[in-house]
Amino acid sequence: MIVMKFGGTSVESAAAMERVAGIVAARLDRQPVVVVSAMGKTTNRLLAIAAEACNGEREEASRLLAELAAYTLGEAAGLGEDAFIEAHFQELSAFLDELAEIGELPDQYVDLISSYGERLSSRIVAAAFRKAGLDAVHVDAREVIVTDRRHTQAAPLYSRSYAKLEARVRPLALAGKVVVMGGFIGSTQDGFTTTLGRGGSDFSASIVGAGIGAEEIQIWTDVDGMLTCDPRILPGGHRVKMISFAEAAELAYFGAKVLHPATVVPAIEKNIPVLILNSRNPESEGTRIVAERVACGNAVKSIACKRNIVVVNIQSLRMLMAHGFLKRIFDVFDRFQTPVDMVTTSEVSVSLTIDNSMHLEEICSELRKIADVTVDDSSSLICLVGDNIRETSGLGARVFGALRAINVRMIAQGASLLNLSLVVADADLRAAVEALHAEFFSTLDERVFEA
Ligand code: ASP
Ligand code: MG
Repeated sequence: MIVMKFGGTSVESAAAMERVAGIVAARLDRQPVVVVSAMGKTTNRLLAIAAEACNGEREEASRLLAELAAYTLGEAAGLGEDAFIEAHFQELSAFLDELAEIGELPDQYVDLISSYGERLSSRIVAAAFRKAGLDAVHVDAREVIVTDRRHTQAAPLYSRSYAKLEARVRPLALAGKVVVMGGFIGSTQDGFTTTLGRGGSDFSASIVGAGIGAEEIQIWTDVDGMLTCDPRILPGGHRVKMISFAEAAELAYFGAKVLHPATVVPAIEKNIPVLILNSRNPESEGTRIVAERVACGNAVKSIACKRNIVVVNIQSLRMLMAHGFLKRIFDVFDRFQTPVDMVTTSEVSVSLTIDNSMHLEEICSELRKIADVTVDDSSSLICLVGDNIRETSGLGARVFGALRAINVRMIAQGASLLNLSLVVADADLRAAVEALHAEFFSTLDERVFEA
């Protein structure tokens, strides 16, 4: 039994859904359970419509809702789901009336309204599969994914969800049915609709895989899996055939867009491999993410980057030999709910990077009460990931040798020992990644990389 998850672009049109049906049909012997995202940009569109209604733009909201309904009905034409789709858009319209009255957007409504994306797409994809000759059945994900009440960021209640998945979904798959479910959505024990957070369909796929005891979880996207460098920064990277969960999570935290970091949790616990595959190139083997370490002749498996981060430098001579400096600094970031990505420190100075600069001004003015503060907002973070990093000697020399022409502003070997992170000026990012990529990937261990 396997789980196959398809994202929004994979199900955005009738033609895309037909392609997906073909991919699933070719894997029926593995008893697939299919998890889908909302069609195309539906989630964003629903949230924008809800925002219009709250802001007193009820007519604009109606117009946008009618557009979304027309798109959905158009792509689902001939599948026999028109009545279902229309009824759902009527429900949505009634919610918009309520929102217009309330004048704000409570989190319960965010979940309720955004859930329609996956509720519709999963029904439509199941129908498209049947039209393509598959024996497909729809299961409402809210009946099997049980969560806590934290609307918009709900956490699954694992044992309850697993029990339901085992009782409801596994028997259908064993009987040869292709179950189609929506990702992203769930419900509380008392039946309120919740969501697992934006991009949560990968997470759903992983929960479903763990619950039905799948042998593999396949995440179908539109890239050939993970690469040795971020293609948006430097094209021409090599495909990574195999990588450990720990390395993949590290890459995801540091900007690789391929995988939602939380995805790995249920899969790691049950030791189920996760595959990243390309629905536009189904023959490619993609990237296999496994629980154990992956032996590799290369020191580094991949280079991730985050552009446009902010470096905050904090210095206080008064803190020489004093204690509590770090605590006071981090209290400020905590108070403004701003995550810190990377930290380097010496006795009297601390440099750290943040990705979210929404409260930067308030943070700086608080910090200036205890220290001198400078801010540099034209930096990029580069992160070398690989579990050989912890035991490769001379790695630092290779990094600095490769970057000899570039000013490195901060450097840290991550506490996980899997990563070495550097900060450079935005303007140097591409050259730095190019130099590092040439240094670490000029020869490739072919067990791990596709040459
Ligand atoms: N449709 C949801 C979103 O756009 C979940 C997902 O696609 O993973 O965030
Ligand atoms: Mg996604």
